[in-house]
Amino acid sequence: RIAYVNGRLVPIADATVHIEDRGFQFADGVYEVVAVLNGAMLDWPQHAARFGRSLRELSITAPMSEAALSIVARRVLAANRIRDGLLYVQATRGAARRDHPFPAHAVPTLVMTARPFDFRVRTAQQKTGISIVTQPENRWQRRDIKSIALLPNVLAKQSARNARAFEAWFVNPDGTVSEGASTNAWIVRKDGTIVTHPASESILHGVMRGTLLALAREHQIRVEEAPFTVADALDAAEAFITSTSVPCLPVISIDGNPVGSGVPGPVTARLAEALWAEVERQTGW
Ligand code: PLP
Repeated sequence: RIAYVNGRLVPIADATVHIEDRGFQFADGVYEVVAVLNGAMLDWPQHAARFGRSLRELSITAPMSEAALSIVARRVLAANRIRDGLLYVQATRGAARRDHPFPAHAVPTLVMTARPFDFRVRTAQQKTGISIVTQPENRWQRRDIKSIALLPNVLAKQSARNARAFEAWFVNPDGTVSEGASTNAWIVRKDGTIVTHPASESILHGVMRGTLLALAREHQIRVEEAPFTVADALDAAEAFITSTSVPCLPVISIDGNPVGSGVPGPVTARLAEALWAEVERQTGW
C-alpha cells in the first residue's frame, strides 16, 4: 500500500509524520472519507467543500487548492490500484513544540491513504438490516466540523460491537437522537415522511445525507429535517442510516426493540435503490 505524506508517495510502512504533529498531540486536524466505485470518487465536490469548510472553521491553513487535492487523491488511488474502495484524507495544523495555542508558523500536514472496500457487503446488509444501540450524547458542540478528535465515536462504536450491533446512536438528555457514531440517523414515519436531524452544529452534515435528501425530494417523498426521539424511532414504520461507507442501511432494531415490523421496509429499499442508481450515474458501478 502507498500513502501520500506532505508531497510524497511512499510505501505505507515508511510513511511518517513528526511526533510533535498537533494531530497526534491535540487531535488538531480534520479529515474526509470518500467512496471510490469503479475507480471514480463519489460526490468528490461535496467532500472537498466540506474539507475546506472544516479547515476554515478551525483556522487551519489549507494545505493545497481543491483542484490540487483532487489530483493528489487520484494519484493515491492509482498508486494503490483502487477500483472499489475508500480514500482517507487528513490535514492537521502541523508540527510544532507542544503548546496549546496555534503555533506562529505551522505548516499543515496532509496525508492520504486508500484501501479496497467491497460495497457488495453493503448491498447484502441492505437485505438483512442492522441493529442499533443507544448511548448518551457525550461529544463537543461543534459536530459539524469533521474533526479527527473521535474518541467518543470510537467508544460508542466499540459499545455497539460489544452488543453485536452495527452502530450506536447518540441520544441527548431530551431524548432526541443526534446521529450515529459514524453515520446519520433517519426514520420513516407511519405517514411516509422521512425525518432526519437538521444540519445544525449538533451533527456532521453527511455528504450521503445531502445526496439522500435530494433524491427523496426528486422521488416526491416527503422530507422533514427535524429532531426525532428514540421513542419516535420505535413508533416509526422504518429507520435507516446513511454514510459514505454504508451508504444506506435499514435499521431493524434499537436496543433490542424492533423497529416497525422488525424487517427492512419498502421506503428504505426505494431510497437505497435511488441511491445506487445515482452511484451508477456518477461512477458506472
Ligand atoms: N456522522 C458522523 C459522526 C460521521 O463520522 C459520519 C461519517 O464518517 C457521518 C455522520 C456520515 O457522513 P458522510 O455521509 O459524509 O460519510
